[in-house]
Amino acid sequence: MPEIKSVQSFERILSIVNELSSLEEPQARSKYVKFPGFAAHISKLFREDRLYDILPRMEVELEIIKKYSPAVRPALDPYVSTQIGVFSGNFSDWEVGFFLGYPECCMKPFAEEARYGLDERHAAELGRLKGKIFVTTAGFIPHSVFCGESLANGLISFVSEVELGTLRQLEKEMSARLPHMHSAYQGQYYEVRMT
Ligand SMILES: [Zn+2]
Repeated sequence: MPEIKSVQSFERILSIVNELSSLEEPQARSKYVKFPGFAAHISKLFREDRLYDILPRMEVELEIIKKYSPAVRPALDPYVSTQIGVFSGNFSDWEVGFFLGYPECCMKPFAEEARYGLDERHAAELGRLKGKIFVTTAGFIPHSVFCGESLANGLISFVSEVELGTLRQLEKEMSARLPHMHSAYQGQYYEVRMT
């Protein structure tokens, strides 16, 4: 059976958080050189016992991802993201992006040009692909709909109607089993359908 990219992509984040749960801040900082401040912050919160409930929630998310084997991984549970400070604004887009496994080529336009949504340049690329459905992990904006690294990291894909249905089922199960208060982050995916 081929490796499922969305599963690998989420397992990577889970293993980082798992590791940070038992590291001291200086160790966290030197181990994760691409997001030292963010890693140290997460390990500090674990030391203070403020993240006691996030690993069980992440295990549930992993179980759901394995069950559906989606073409694209869902966003990290917004409750977990909130608890660890993804939305706090205290860390650079680069640090958070590296933590989430986003490719540098995609973080650059996000961080430097505030390219925060799927825009006319994505639409222009998609314009030649009538009938296709393009999906990204919610919160992630690829530098191009053809970004090879994003595809390899399970962050983007072109999907069929059937696969889109699978993503919808996954979203439904996530919101039932991992409820949270973030009205802005109820969806797990962004999608563009070319007609
Ligand atoms: Zn890219």
